[in-house]
Amino acid sequence: MRLDNQLWESKYHEAVERLTREEAQWRTAESLLRQLVGCLGRVAHGAHDQVDPHIERLSAALSGTMEPLALEPLVTELAEAIEGLGARPRGVNDERSIPITRPQRTEHGSSVQSSLSRLVDRIVILPRLADRANDLRHDVADAGDLVALAACGDRLADLVNEQRIGLQREIDALQAVLRHVTGRLDEMSQYMSRELADQSTGEANGQALDASVAHEMRLLGEAALEIDDMHELRERVNQSLETISLCFRDFRDREGIRLTAYRERAERMRLRIEQLETERNTLQRSLEREHELAQTDTMIGMPNRLAYEKRIEAAYESWQATMRPLSVAAIDIDHFKSINDTYGHTAGDAVLRIIGQALLKHIRPCDFVARYGGEEFIVIFDGADEAESLQVCERLRGKIQHLAFHASRQPVRVTASIGLTQFRPGDTPQSVFDRADLALYTAKNGGRNRCAVG
Ligand code: GH3
Ligand code: MG
Ligand code: MG
Repeated sequence: MRLDNQLWESKYHEAVERLTREEAQWRTAESLLRQLVGCLGRVAHGAHDQVDPHIERLSAALSGTMEPLALEPLVTELAEAIEGLGARPRGVNDERSIPITRPQRTEHGSSVQSSLSRLVDRIVILPRLADRANDLRHDVADAGDLVALAACGDRLADLVNEQRIGLQREIDALQAVLRHVTGRLDEMSQYMSRELADQSTGEANGQALDASVAHEMRLLGEAALEIDDMHELRERVNQSLETISLCFRDFRDREGIRLTAYRERAERMRLRIEQLETERNTLQRSLEREHELAQTDTMIGMPNRLAYEKRIEAAYESWQATMRPLSVAAIDIDHFKSINDTYGHTAGDAVLRIIGQALLKHIRPCDFVARYGGEEFIVIFDGADEAESLQVCERLRGKIQHLAFHASRQPVRVTASIGLTQFRPGDTPQSVFDRADLALYTAKNGGRNRCAVG
């Protein structure tokens, strides 16, 4: 929406220009009339032939359509002509002491009289001055001599002065209306810009407001062009501004309701999101737990075969990229079946747990151990070649051998055989596992409780 102030500005300038022009004219008229009153006072005391042509011209000018400004040279000429007489009546020094006499040249009196009447008719435009103008018109008509006419001239000058003041007030009032209109339009314009810039503004509400205000502005523009009377125009402006204000209030109300509903929905959505977030976190924690459980051997409390497979896959990829040495060892408990057979399955479980915990405890932090299945374990030596791995395997084998088991208060001897190998070019996790398993078989065949490299 665009609020067009141009129309108002031109309307305002036009009115101010007219009023200023009129004011200047009447200011001149007032001073001329006061000058004229002085002249008439003098003329009343002995008119002279030299003055007659000036009074005639002035009378002609006043009876014509001449503007007050055009009177100026004529009055000046008359004043000069009177001064030029150089003959103030003898023994008369003060105007106030001039005796009131019947005019000697009554034709001067009547021509000035009719000129003043015409002036009264022409100048009084304010309704509140109409009565005084009427009285003055009667007094001018009744004036019997130039002195009385001069007094009327003085009153006419006062009326002109009041007319001027009235015009000035009219300008002030017009300025106030303009300031009011401009202020309100600017206010609304700013409000609209803010609202339209705000993304939360409902498009439909914004469009409805736009249409209402544009319509009202159009009507106001048409009125400004058609109405010449300032009072009527002022009324129309106020009426339009009131209508526009109502549109804005309505818009604000509807936006308020819409925004409240929007905030409620947003709050509900925020709570739902919060709830979903909590649910997601719970689910994620439980999935992580599931995942961990899926890779844990719960009987022993150590990584299981799935965990090994994931770990060896990652180590294999890293080995392919860096070719840092990577070794794998398969550990199998010797004659475990006979432990079960002799001491029972529960005792066998206990042995498995103790060996598993011992392996976890004695591998290096960089190594990884898992229960591969049954009584078999598997170790990954990341960054270690066969020789280095062998040393660790020997130590692990020795630890198992020296673990103290007792069943039915009898010491039980447990040993393990280990087959190990390192990744070589072209190897895969499976080929390395197979080779370690083969080395384990070699260790078993070699008499058990030993390590073999494949
Ligand atoms: P070898 O020296 O050749 O490895 O002989 P072994 O007896 O250890 O090997 P074999 O494969 O013949 O027997 C393994 C036994 O391990 C068989 C099975 O009952 C037992 N076993 C496997 N898993 C478990 C388990 O979780 N608990 C118990 N107590 N025994 C198990
Ligand atoms: Mg076995
Ligand atoms: Mg075995």
